[in-house]
Amino acid sequence: MKFRNNEEDYIKSIYAFIESFGEANENLISADLKVSMPTVSEYLNKLEKRNIIKKLNRKILLTGYGHNLALPIVRKHRISEVFAVKMLDVPWEESHDAVMDLEHTINENYFNNLLRNLGNPQKCPHGNPINPGKSIFDIKLENASNGSYKISRITYENKKLLRELADMQILPESSIKVVIDGEPVIINDNGELKITGKNKSSIRIKSD
Ligand SMILES: [Zn+2]
Repeated sequence: MKFRNNEEDYIKSIYAFIESFGEANENLISADLKVSMPTVSEYLNKLEKRNIIKKLNRKILLTGYGHNLALPIVRKHRISEVFAVKMLDVPWEESHDAVMDLEHTINENYFNNLLRNLGNPQKCPHGNPINPGKSIFDIKLENASNGSYKISRITYENKKLLRELADMQILPESSIKVVIDGEPVIINDNGELKITGKNKSSIRIKSD
């Protein structure tokens, strides 16, 4: 297991949680970065002192300054993911984790070249925009009613969830049916998958 203790990884993780769930917290960050809670707390205190994050009770949010810092970091991450899937044949569900080191080792100045050489993709393999920060009009799975949809994106790229979706060949732009059976159930020709907990707001869908 690798330990993630890089400022960019913290900011990226917090950004993804805010995009997915409206806020981050220490538990989520600790699990995502595989770093102990005390280490996370200590690191977050540093980020708070530098006005990158703010804490509201247990909620962790980015400040305006922190949000602006996050955008190019998230962009680099998403370009690196496309590179991993397209050029390295990294499996879709592995790509979020696989690029954790790569994205920090490429010189900032080369990301635009990388993007161009990848054919100027607009989205990461999980459907999230290469240029983050723009509003996207899609629906959280938790707000869906029964019907036919397409997958728009997976905002929190949790490996277990990605693997379950990949096993059913459910990727962005895949057509699915949603049936609410207490919890939303995603159905395609390969089977069905009940989605619970936070994953219901990570999976974003759009009308088919
Ligand atoms: Zn992604």
